[in-house]
Amino acid sequence: MARANEELSAWLDAAVDPMVACDAHEHVYFLNRAAEQLFAWKREDLQGQPVSRLFPERVSHHEGQSLVRYLLSRRDALEGRPTRVFAQRSDGAEVLVELTVGASGQGDDERIVISLRRLHEVIDTLREPLEHPRHEAEASLVETRVRGDDLYRLVVENAPLGIFHYDTTPVVTACNERLVTILGSTKRIIVGLNLLSLRDEAMMRCVRESLAGRGADYEGNYASVTGHKVTPVHVRFAPCYNDSGVVEGGVGIVEDVSQRRLAERERDEGMALLTTLFDSAPVGLGFIDTRLRYVRVNERLANINGKSPEEHLGKDPHQVLGPGGPAVELMLRHVLDTGEPVVEEEVDTSLIGSPGPRRLLAGSCYPVRAPDGRMLGVGVLVEDITRRKLAEEEREKLYHEAQQAIRVRDDFLSIASHELKTPLTPLSLRLATLERKLERGESVDPTTLRHARQHLLRMTGLINDLLDASRIEAGRLALHPQATRMDSLVEHVLQAMDAQRAGHELRYVHPEDAVQVFVDPYRLEQVISNLVENAFKYSPDGGVIQVTLETHGELALLAVKDPGIGIPVDQQTQLFERYFRARNVSSRSYGGLGLGLYISRDIVERHGGRIWVESQVGQGSTFHIALPLLSGTSAHPPVSQPDQHVH
Ligand code: ADP
Repeated sequence: MARANEELSAWLDAAVDPMVACDAHEHVYFLNRAAEQLFAWKREDLQGQPVSRLFPERVSHHEGQSLVRYLLSRRDALEGRPTRVFAQRSDGAEVLVELTVGASGQGDDERIVISLRRLHEVIDTLREPLEHPRHEAEASLVETRVRGDDLYRLVVENAPLGIFHYDTTPVVTACNERLVTILGSTKRIIVGLNLLSLRDEAMMRCVRESLAGRGADYEGNYASVTGHKVTPVHVRFAPCYNDSGVVEGGVGIVEDVSQRRLAERERDEGMALLTTLFDSAPVGLGFIDTRLRYVRVNERLANINGKSPEEHLGKDPHQVLGPGGPAVELMLRHVLDTGEPVVEEEVDTSLIGSPGPRRLLAGSCYPVRAPDGRMLGVGVLVEDITRRKLAEEEREKLYHEAQQAIRVRDDFLSIASHELKTPLTPLSLRLATLERKLERGESVDPTTLRHARQHLLRMTGLINDLLDASRIEAGRLALHPQATRMDSLVEHVLQAMDAQRAGHELRYVHPEDAVQVFVDPYRLEQVISNLVENAFKYSPDGGVIQVTLETHGELALLAVKDPGIGIPVDQQTQLFERYFRARNVSSRSYGGLGLGLYISRDIVERHGGRIWVESQVGQGSTFHIALPLLSGTSAHPPVSQPDQHVH
C-alpha cells in the first residue's frame, strides 16, 4: 500500500498542473511539486494546515461557506469549467489561478481535490475564452478579478503603444495589434520571432539588460521582415519575473517615433533657421522673461549694451545697463502689464544716464505669449540709430544752411543791385549838369565835380569789396607786406577821410614813438578806412569818433570808438561773416553789403593779428585790432600768403 502511495505521489509530482488534496475538514494532506512551486510552500509545512491558507482571506469564504465547499456545491452548475480566483503564496503574494474542485468519498473519508492552473501574464493567454460563472453568487465572488483581467486585456489591446513579450531565448511569445500596425507586419511573423535574428546590437544590449533584471531604452529603425517598411521606433525593454522572482523574459513597449522624428527634424530645422536669423540680424534682438531676466540676446544687442551675450543671461536690465536700466524696465513692465507692444521708442542714452558715448537707439518691445495665451516674456528689438539720426540732423542742418545761403544770396543780390544803383542816379545827374554847363560855355562848379567823383568812388569801393570778397573765397587775395609805421599810416587815413566826417568830430590818440608793424600798407589802410567809415555810417547823430593807437607788449592795438547805434550782443560773433548785417540796420537807412568786416578780418588775421568788437545797442561800438609789432630784433611776423590761406 505504501508503495502504491509513493507511486501515486510520484505521478502527481510529475503532473504539470498544481494539485492540492485535503480531507473532509479541509486540511491539506498532500500537494504535488507544481503546487509547492506555485504556493512557495514546502509540502511538510503545509500538510495538516487548513486549505484556506492558500487563499486571501477575502475570498476564502463565500456565502457563509468555505470557498472549497461553495465551489463543491456549485459543481453541477459549473459543469467542470474552472473558476478564476486569486490564490495566496506563503510570502503573501497573490497569484491569479483557475481552479476546479472535485471530491470523493463520504463523511470523514471524504477527499477533496483541488486542481489549479496558474494564469500567466502572457497576453495571448488572456485572449482565450474565459469561464464566467453563470450564477450571480459566483459572479460576485470573482467579478472583480474577471473585470480586472478584461480591463487589463483592453488596456493592452488598445494601448497607443506596441507591446510584446519575449522569453529568455529571446523569442517573442505575444504581442498586441498596435505593434503589428506599427511594424507593418503580421502577428504570425512577430510572435515566434527570435530577437537575435534582427542582428541589431543595440537592441540585443537592451534585451540582455532586461533579462539581467534592468530596464533599457532602444531607439532605432525596425525594418519589417518583408523589408517593405522601415519604422523608427523607441522601445522600452523591461524584465518579467516569475513567481519565484526569477526573470523569465521581458516585455517591450514600442513607440512609433516617425512622427516625433519628423516633428523634431522640422523643429530643429526651424530652430536652426531662427537661430541664424537671430544671430545674424543687423538689429539687436533679445528675449526677457516675466521676471525681467535676460534669457537670450544676439551679438548685436550684446554689442549695443556693451556686454557679452553670456553676461546678460539671468540678469535684469539694471544689472546689465546700470543707470540706464530703470527706463528700460519701465518699458518692459508696461508691455507685461498691458500686453500692448511699445514700437520704435527712441532713447537717447545720454538722457537715461547710460555710461559711454551718447547713442540714439530705437527700441521696440513685444509681448511673447504661449499658444494658450500665457505671457512668456518680452521680445526686444533694438536698433542703433545714432549714425542715421546724426546724418539726418546733419542733412537738416545742411538743408537749413542751404536755405539760409539762398536767402542771403537773394538778399545780397537785391542789396548789391540797390547799392550799386544808388550812386548812379546822382552821378548821371551831376554829369548831365556838367555837360549842360559846358555846352552853354558856363564855368564848371568844382563841387559838382567833387560830388560826381565821390559817387564814382563809392561805386568803385563797392565793386572792390565784391572783388576782394570773391578773391578771399577763392584764396587769391594777395598781400605785399613791408615794414610800416602804423602811427603815420593811421594819421594819413584819417586825413584822407576828413572830408567824409560830416557832423562827426574825429579824434586821433597815438603814442609819441613810432609804431612799427610788418604789413601790407594798402590793405591795412583798407581795414582802417572801413572801420572809420562804419563809425561814421552807424553814428547818424554825429558825435566824437575816437581812434586810439597804442602798444602793449609785442602788440600794436588800434581802437575805433563811436557813439552810434551799437550792435545786438547775440549778433556780435557773426559780424565778421560774409554778407552779415546786424538786424538793427535796415538796408533802407544804412547802405552796405556786409563785406567790409569780412574782408577786414581776413586781412588782419593773415597778418597774424586779431579783430573784435565791444558794443551795446544804443551805446556805441568799439572795434579793436591787435597786430604784432615789428621790433628791431625780432624776425618779421608771419604773414600768410594766399596759397596757405584756406577757406
Ligand atoms: P556793411 O557796413 O556794408 O553792412 P560791414 O561788414 O562793414 O558791412 O559791417 C557788417 C555789419 O556790422 C553792418 O551791417 C552793421 O550791422 C554792423 N556794424 C559794423 N560797424 C558798425 C558800427 N560801427 N556800429 C554799429 N554796427 C556796425
